[in-house]
Amino acid sequence: MTGLLDELKTNFDNQSAKSMKPYEVLLQENKLWAAQKIKEDPEFFERLVHLQTPEFLWIGCSDSRVPANEITGTQPGEIFVHRNVANLVVNTDVNLLSVLDYAVNHLKIKHIIVCGHYGCGGVKAALTNESFNQVLNMWLRHIKDIYRIHRKELEAIPDENSRVNRMVELNIKEQIFNLAKTSIIQKAWSSEQRPDLHGWVYDLHDGLIKPVADMKAGTDIDRLYEFDL
Ligand SMILES: [Zn+2]
Repeated sequence: MTGLLDELKTNFDNQSAKSMKPYEVLLQENKLWAAQKIKEDPEFFERLVHLQTPEFLWIGCSDSRVPANEITGTQPGEIFVHRNVANLVVNTDVNLLSVLDYAVNHLKIKHIIVCGHYGCGGVKAALTNESFNQVLNMWLRHIKDIYRIHRKELEAIPDENSRVNRMVELNIKEQIFNLAKTSIIQKAWSSEQRPDLHGWVYDLHDGLIKPVADMKAGTDIDRLYEFDL
């Protein structure tokens, strides 16, 4: 007598022998994953259908090697996620601001993590003079602006990889500051003393995360950016 999971696995093995298309493999893997989840915890999906109460908002890079849940050992339902090229917080980005608004005002999240990664292709590209055509140029311009602010420090670093990696860290710090500049964050800070902001950098070489910036709820920022709320 075989269980559902064994049956699926056998079926999967048979099917893969017939050379499935790559996206079909994903669908098969999904069936296995769902069956495994139910085996471990029969109420798993039922619980998530009725409740989404993540404590964290994750703003990360779109890079396929930096999946929020996997590298933090968290499960579906634990992290609300937004990802874009080079994990930028741009104050005209309706997509990001909608995610931020929903996470802060409806989900009432307590921590926002901006997580970059060393060797980030977006950051690297922004430090070259290569043109990537209009849209990507527009996006990467935000990174060039940060480089300009820290040009002195960065240009004193002779090794190119080390320079990019330092730029990755400075980018994270700037994005934390960009979050603090939004009225969404300032309002939540003044009325509910949350969320705290955390800047992290993930290292693809060893899978470890290095914290590089922290801003507690209510931190004073440059007065110029503070709104009278
Ligand atoms: Zn990246």
